[in-house]
This record gives sequence, structure tokens and C-alpha cells, in this order.
Amino acid sequence: MPEVLKLKLDRPEKLYDFILKLAESALKSKVVDSAVIFQKQKSHFEVKPILIEDEKKLSEFNVSAFNCYYPSLYGNLAKYLYLTPIKNSKNFLMFAKPCDIKAIDELKKKGYSFNGYIVGLSCFGTINVKTAKKLEEIIGQKPIKSERIDEEFLHLTLDDGQSKNFSIKELEEKGVLVRSNCKHCFDKISSSGSDLFIYQLPNSQFFIEVLNPSIKKILEDTGYSFEPNGNAVNFINEFKNKIQRQAENILSEIEEQFLKLSDSEKLKYWWDGKLFSKCTKCLACVRACPLCICKLCILKKEGKALDKSQVHLIRLLHIAETCTNCGACDVVCPPRLPISSLFQIAQRNLKKSG
Ligand code: SF4
Ligand code: SF4
Ligand code: SF4
Repeated sequence: MPEVLKLKLDRPEKLYDFILKLAESALKSKVVDSAVIFQKQKSHFEVKPILIEDEKKLSEFNVSAFNCYYPSLYGNLAKYLYLTPIKNSKNFLMFAKPCDIKAIDELKKKGYSFNGYIVGLSCFGTINVKTAKKLEEIIGQKPIKSERIDEEFLHLTLDDGQSKNFSIKELEEKGVLVRSNCKHCFDKISSSGSDLFIYQLPNSQFFIEVLNPSIKKILEDTGYSFEPNGNAVNFINEFKNKIQRQAENILSEIEEQFLKLSDSEKLKYWWDGKLFSKCTKCLACVRACPLCICKLCILKKEGKALDKSQVHLIRLLHIAETCTNCGACDVVCPPRLPISSLFQIAQRNLKKSG
């Protein structure tokens, strides 16, 4: 069983200071030669991953926005790794959400190798960048310093030091939407594939699981205090089970709506009615998917000439089994088709049928 340590923070908002400190300690001690960090773009809510080598530059970057808003640039970090020269870096440190890490694992299974360490972060859902902009209206254009999402709340710290807490439910009523794939995400606190994993649990309790002891040194060099915690594993497992039950229920509700239909209605629903009839065959979902990397992709070559049902059945056959529920396809789809939900339902049924 990997070691689990309790992380003591004065205030929960300090989580992202700790994360930057972790990157600083890894770069200073030369455990890694570079770190993937997140740079703000035109608005506070848009962040782009970039690779840096100089720890003195870390204070210029924002990690909290990455963990709260779904990035519009590159989307899933596996896609960033795949598309940029970072894969040639000798040894990098990357902070990632569970769905990023799952996709990185899938790329590894397809033969891609990366020289890096991954620090996984609990993730309670991300807000679509387009709707996140409404937050500015709600808080009155005050600059946001950092943010944190937990199970029920979005906690903002403003530049003037004020704290604002919003229930996710209330934000959704005001049009600030958590992405639908996040609502049925089973992996919110899954440490699988990480070298270190930071758990954010109820009552602002933070734990760190050390899955790769060879980078424990970077924790020790941060100057933060950690304590072994014998109860943590039970506590984490209980919370993980709760999250998985919630995801299971939400996915079942979506599936039930579908199963209620007769066969001809199903066909109508997906292909002729309100869903895939709206597909324009733009293939943005193919380009965004971190798993759609076949060199000889028939969809990229001839997708426009195929029938819509062929496009989606080919993708379903190729991806449903390994779909990581990252939702990159949902974000880029102009008519907002719930592609990840469909793929997750298919995946669940594939698992059930063995
Ligand atoms: S799918 Fe899961 S891990 Fe990914 S952003 Fe949503 S809640 Fe986070
Ligand atoms: S099909 Fe959609 S949700 Fe699944 S891995 Fe690809 S982009 Fe992510
Ligand atoms: S992104 Fe949406 S509209 Fe474009 S091909 Fe995919 S499902 Fe169709």
C-alpha cells in the first residue's frame, strides 16, 4: 500500500501555493529539468500549458484556474504531451487531473513514452470557460486571484483579499455550468497513473499519496509539514465509493431516458431527431479527442464524405472501450452533442457484458 501523508495547510486556499512550491522544489533540486505550468490567456479563466525550466518564473503562473475551468487550448493534457516537443524533454513534472492522467496512460498503451513525473490533483468538476465568464458579472469584474472547487462549492479569493463562496447549484442556476461529463466522472479522486496524488477531501482535509517514492524528496524540500495518517486510506476509500455511486446514478439516469425508448424511437433520437441530426460532420470531436491518434484515420481522411451514422459508429467502435470521459469532444462540438455520455454508457455496457 503506498504511503499516505496528511498535508497541513493554514487555510484551504493555500493549496495552490503548495502546488507551486512543489514545482519550485522539484526544479531547484534538479529532480526534474522542467515543469508544465499554466499561463493565463486573454481572460482569467483561460489557461494554456507551457513548459518552464526556471523556478524563479513560477510566481507568474496560475495553477488554480487550470483545476477549475476546462482549458480551451489543447483541452486534455495528454493531447498537449502528444502534440508538443515536451515529449522530448529529459524529465519534466506535470500537474494533471485524473482524466488527463487516464488519457496519458492510454497513450502509453499505444506505445508513446514520456519522460516525466505526474502529480495528480483531485478534481470535482470543471466549468466550461464560456460560461465561467459569467462569473465576472456575478462578482462585478473584480479580479480573481485564485479559486478552488470542492464537492459543493466554488471558493474564490479576489485580488483585494476578499473570499467569496458560491454553491455550484446556485451558480448553475445563474448559467455558470459544470461540464456534463464531470457530473458522471468516476475518477475525481483516482490516483491511478500518478507519481504523487493530492487528495482534497471533505472538511478541507488534504492528503498526499506517494506512489513513486523516488520523488518523495520534492515533498520534503517544500518546507511544508506532513504527518503519516493511519486512517487516511479508509477515509479516501469511503469517499471514493461515494463519488462512484453518485457517478453511477447520474449515468444510469441518462441511460434510463434512452432505454425507455422503443428501438425505432432510439434510432430517431440518435440519428433523425434531436441528437445526431444536428451533427455537421465538422470532425472537431475527432481532432480534440486525446485517444484519436491513429496515423491512418479514415475519419480524418474521408470523414466528410461518410454518412453521419458511419462517422459516429466508427468512432464509437474505436474509442468507446477506452474513452476517458475527459469531455474534450463535448466542449468543441458546435451543436453541443453529449458525446462523452454516449461513449460512457457504451463503455459501461461493454464492461457489463464482459
Ligand atoms: S472528467 Fe473528472 S477528472 Fe476530468 S475534469 Fe471532469 S471531474 Fe475532473
Ligand atoms: S471520446 Fe470524448 S470524452 Fe472520450 S476520450 Fe475522446 S474526447 Fe474524451
Ligand atoms: S464535433 Fe459535433 S458536430 Fe462536429 S463531427 Fe463531432 S459530433 Fe458532429
